[in-house]
Amino acid sequence: MLENLPKTYNPKDFEDRLYKYWEDNGHFIAPVDENKEPFTIMMPPPNVTGSLHMGHALNNTIQDILIRWKRMEGYAALWLPGTDHASISTEARVVDKLKSEGKSKEELGREKFLEEAWEWTHLYGGTIKRQLRKLGVSCDWSRDKFTLDEDLSFAVEEVFNRLYEKGLIYRGDRIINWCPSCKTAISDAEVEHIDTNSFIWHINYPVKDSDKNLTIATTRPETMLGDLAVAVNPKDERYQDLVGKTVILPLVNREIPIIADEYVDMEFGTGAVKITPSHDPNDFEVGERFDLGQYVIFDEEGYINSNGGVYEGLERFEARKRIVEDLEKEGYLEQVKEHENAVGHCERCRTVIEPIISKQWFVKMEPLAKPALEAYKNGELNFIPERFGKIYTHWLENIKDWCISRQLWWGHRLPVYYCQDCDEIMVGREKPEKCSKCAATNICQDTDTLDTWFSSALWPFSTLGWPKDTEDLQYFFPTDVLVTGYDIIFFWVIRMVFSSLEQMGQLPFKDVFLTGLVRDSQGRKMSKSLGNGIDPLEVIEVYGADALRFTLVTGNTPGNDMRFHMERVEASRNFANKLWNATRFVLMNLDESVAEQEFRMEDLEEEDKWILSRLNRIIGEVTNNLDKYEIGLAAQRVHDFIWDDYCDWYIEMVKSRLYGDNKESKELAQQVLLYVLKDINKLLHPFMPFITEEIWQHLPGNEKDLIETTWPTTRKDLDFPQAEERIQYVKESIKAIRNARAEMNIAPSRKATIIFVSREKDIRDLIERGRSHYINLASAEDIKVQASKEGLGDDNVAVVLNKAEAFLPLKDLIDYEKEVERLEREKEKLEEELRRVRGKLANEGFVSKAPEKIVQEERDKLAKYENMMDKVLERLENIEKYRKI
Ligand SMILES: [Zn+2]
Ligand SMILES: [Zn+2]
Repeated sequence: MLENLPKTYNPKDFEDRLYKYWEDNGHFIAPVDENKEPFTIMMPPPNVTGSLHMGHALNNTIQDILIRWKRMEGYAALWLPGTDHASISTEARVVDKLKSEGKSKEELGREKFLEEAWEWTHLYGGTIKRQLRKLGVSCDWSRDKFTLDEDLSFAVEEVFNRLYEKGLIYRGDRIINWCPSCKTAISDAEVEHIDTNSFIWHINYPVKDSDKNLTIATTRPETMLGDLAVAVNPKDERYQDLVGKTVILPLVNREIPIIADEYVDMEFGTGAVKITPSHDPNDFEVGERFDLGQYVIFDEEGYINSNGGVYEGLERFEARKRIVEDLEKEGYLEQVKEHENAVGHCERCRTVIEPIISKQWFVKMEPLAKPALEAYKNGELNFIPERFGKIYTHWLENIKDWCISRQLWWGHRLPVYYCQDCDEIMVGREKPEKCSKCAATNICQDTDTLDTWFSSALWPFSTLGWPKDTEDLQYFFPTDVLVTGYDIIFFWVIRMVFSSLEQMGQLPFKDVFLTGLVRDSQGRKMSKSLGNGIDPLEVIEVYGADALRFTLVTGNTPGNDMRFHMERVEASRNFANKLWNATRFVLMNLDESVAEQEFRMEDLEEEDKWILSRLNRIIGEVTNNLDKYEIGLAAQRVHDFIWDDYCDWYIEMVKSRLYGDNKESKELAQQVLLYVLKDINKLLHPFMPFITEEIWQHLPGNEKDLIETTWPTTRKDLDFPQAEERIQYVKESIKAIRNARAEMNIAPSRKATIIFVSREKDIRDLIERGRSHYINLASAEDIKVQASKEGLGDDNVAVVLNKAEAFLPLKDLIDYEKEVERLEREKEKLEEELRRVRGKLANEGFVSKAPEKIVQEERDKLAKYENMMDKVLERLENIEKYRKI
């Protein structure tokens, strides 16, 4: 006797156990195997100290589905996991921790601070990896990487050197986003623009030796301290005569030129703008064109420096207040208007960003962006869905040089060295012993670290051992598909593409599968501040990982946001439960020695052929859907096949054979049940790995674990289109008969003879062949199949079928006369009640004098009786409707 599954489906009984079993047996490890084709996915590395959220859960479920499927298809399937050091985010958290201990990073010094950061990393670094395991991810942990690993750091240094040697990395003055609180440059992508109610100030700048004023408009009046010009459009008639003259900067009385530049929008404000090259990216460019020089007015903490004259030492917003007051006092303020403004904030600490000129290191983007654009235009790089190609193109076409230096300590330090004696800059793979120019030995390394994305841009090849020419790199690179959120096309996808094209001469991947956001049930973004985040681990705790995974992928199309409903997780759990119970039923009715044998084709009965042929079709469709990354559709197909075809129909259809006396027919049913059940578990495995493996381990005749077994393929010899059509007909007609009975409230236990009438012989034959199904599944006492209505009784329920009609004698279903009589009596009673209540409510005296509560009670009664009346009338109508001859 086979060991059956436990009575209830309880994922906690086996999910952790199976994960450990797979891992212990090395099932996740991808060996380099020349007899196999490689299939590679690099896991987007989560922040090392982060914890799992729904976005990760969705993303990793999709990757796991693809990798499990490809592994079963016979590929050497490598899914390489890892974590990112996430410089700014980790550093900010360590700084916070120190703060709570009354310490600062400056006090501690670089070395001690890094010790603290490593300690933090070791303390929280394992969390997300443990959480990913709960989800069932089958990634190769033996190849786990961290962006600060020695070999990955080596790759970072190598790339920096190579780019520098090619002249693609340079040091320069540029406007960068400065966070005065984090005291570092941050990338455009780390700036969060928040709509803020603010003002726009119109200020008069007196034209020198004239009684005229030039009025400029600004949202940051304090930056006027750094103005180096006022600009107008050369085509602007209003200012033709002023170009070339100068204005006197109010409050500080500095003389600055009036210049003409195409950049100025004549329609905006007064058509005259102040130019502050050191504190605005556009003004910086104007400044370069006119050689205006630089005039920095803020220090690194956002206070006015000595260039600000009497305002020196004021915090920037305090300075704004004082300057506006002074402008007003001295009559320079023309007007103040309310103004909504998208103000840039630091994504980490929410401080308002200050654009500031700074000496930073940059990657020259134009020569790198070009091949990345071409690769997409040539069709070598695909986006799923396709529309994201536009965003990719847009970003690349408008890309600016990439500021890669950060004033942080946690990360890869720039391999840049300065001679303290002659200021010579040296870039190298090791610290030079002496200055290449003056031979001095007084040399120190740049204190900055690299933008986090500099190292993650190398992820697809640095993780495989590059720059060493390793076996892994040769075999697994380039990777096949990248699965990531659409929000990081710019941060990450683009940078991986151009880095790989530059260093490897190849694209890092062919396909980019973009996932949408997981929103809450109301469609809102899950966020800490709203408190509407759903913890995937809590969902797993209650419903199991399989249910969570299945919910995340069903009904989800690539690139589209989805709403997360707990009811849907429950439905997924119910689906797993249904498969569990069906399996228990099959196992209970299985004779092991019989079931393991291959069924004899020539003995197959019609429903056997039908389910086998349906299975064939589903295998083809699911494989095809997965090939096209239509993961949601694939999941839906498997679900419907299992729920509907296998559980609701096939099992029900063969029950009579399993319980019957015909030994051969019984054994055949067992064999087909088991055969289909095995393939069902294979097809469902990538989506619901745990329950399928658990079931698989209980099925007889399996030598391999499910995770390493082969993906089912379609079999020509199991195509039975005719049987499919016939059983489909039987199914449809049973459904129609069941519906008619349900509409009339007839219990399934009440049997009725069904008389089928069809003029077509084929249909009559087909129905006749389905005799046992009608008897078992359509509550038929008996069936009669005839070519005409001859001999039909008077009162029948008629059900229209395709090319046929089914008649159920009303007397079999209900005691017709009695039922109509009963309904008529009920109708009379209700009419009486209704008359009484309506009368009461029509009585002005009652309605105005009786307590509101009593009146309401009468109104409720009215609604109740009306509702009951509708039901009675409907039932009477239904009886009439079906009482056709
Ligand atoms: Zn900040
Ligand atoms: Zn020197």
